[in-house]
Amino acid sequence: DFSNVDLLIVGAGFYGATIAERVANELQKNVLLIDRRSHIGGNAYSEFDSETGIEVHRYGAHLFHTPNETVWTYLNRFTGFTDYKHRVYSTYRDQVYAMPINLGTISQFFNRRLSPAEARTLIADQAAEMAGRNPANLEEKAISLIGRPLYEAFIRGYTAKQWQTDPRDLPEHIITRLPVRYTYDNRYFNDKYEGLPVDGYAAIFERMLNHPKINIALGVDFFSLKSSLPPGLPIVYTGPIDRYFDYSEGELGWRTIDFEKETVNTGDFQGMAVMNYADETIPFTRILEFRHFNPERSYQTEKTVIVREYSRSAQRKDEPYYPIDTRQDKDVFLRYRVRAEAEVNVHFGGRLGTYRYLDMHQAIGAALKAFESRVVPHFTEGRILGGEK
Ligand code: FAD
Ligand code: UDP
Repeated sequence: DFSNVDLLIVGAGFYGATIAERVANELQKNVLLIDRRSHIGGNAYSEFDSETGIEVHRYGAHLFHTPNETVWTYLNRFTGFTDYKHRVYSTYRDQVYAMPINLGTISQFFNRRLSPAEARTLIADQAAEMAGRNPANLEEKAISLIGRPLYEAFIRGYTAKQWQTDPRDLPEHIITRLPVRYTYDNRYFNDKYEGLPVDGYAAIFERMLNHPKINIALGVDFFSLKSSLPPGLPIVYTGPIDRYFDYSEGELGWRTIDFEKETVNTGDFQGMAVMNYADETIPFTRILEFRHFNPERSYQTEKTVIVREYSRSAQRKDEPYYPIDTRQDKDVFLRYRVRAEAEVNVHFGGRLGTYRYLDMHQAIGAALKAFESRVVPHFTEGRILGGEK
């Protein structure tokens, strides 16, 4: 019975949860929030492992970081953050290097002590093949930034494993996620705000959604419900956009990950949270060791939980994690955008609904904006919720 529902939200990840929280608290409207999974939180969900007590991010490591003060202030209403600062190392041919590429990585790789200026000159020489040309894809962009030798060592193999797509067919924005630094600063992110939720990710969602006007139905798939919905019911849809239109315009390319979890009888497996593996001969892309995300907690020291990540193209039955976004995908997506404009009562949002490589803070920021620009005008002025260009 939907008679009491003012807004149906499909997906309880950060996008759906932010809209739900705003609608309930700011507009006092009744929200029905559904997710086909058995838990709230979407891909950011984490749980405390029953055997070891260690917080494990079920869908891969989730590091919160943002330059956006509005998002930071908003999220701090629902959680405190630890002062964790993310650092990553990469194994290449049996040596361990700091990632992202910084002066330490460059000096170690070329086995020379280099000043910042010397390193810049060296890399500029090695990137000379790109001089005066505009990079047109991930490979060219990477070579223009770090030169060919570093690209071939740290990026080419890892990217091939992670995307299973020729780096010349991938968009350059994927690689500009990683900074390149001519200092010894080896922090993974540049953002002003960074940390991990003090009592885990699930607690954030419980607090955001704890409101009498928010009803949550878990284990419910939108597509088994769709035909029984009252016509015109306003919907925020954060599932895959190609699935919404029954793949009528073709399938969008997504990448999924198989997470291989193991409990190891040691207090410390690898000495840090994330170790990347650059060699193509090693089938996984990285190993996560969750205890290192929370050094402030007094976890037991008998056992540790690690996860190996194996990346592959998603089939329809798989969880779609990353939009691959090749040129062909862009064409297909544009056709879905046109179809989405015709859905006047449906707003498409989030990483899956807009086919964008959004980080958590970007999903929250986009949801806060959509609340102001679409949801509020819909409920206060009767404007259509969907149909956006
Ligand atoms: P999601 O969290 O994916 O939520 C969408 C929800 O919709 C899901 O729960 C899904 O079950 C539900 N759904 C889909 N279809 C249906 C349906 N038919 N019926 C009912 N429910 C449905 N971001 C960071 O900021 N830092 C990181 O370190 C980071 N690491 C990541 C690592 C991995 C492996 C992945 C996959 C993502 C990572 N992200 C990270 C991105 C982060 O997960 C997203 O930004 C965030 O989850 C986006 O929120 P969302 O609400 O758009 O989507
Ligand atoms: N990347 C790489 N080597 C690394 C780390 C990253 O080649 O050691 C590339 C890879 O193409 C990856 C992109 O940089 O997809 C962005 O990395 P990020 O860590 O942001 O990816 P995510 O955490 O989203 O998987």
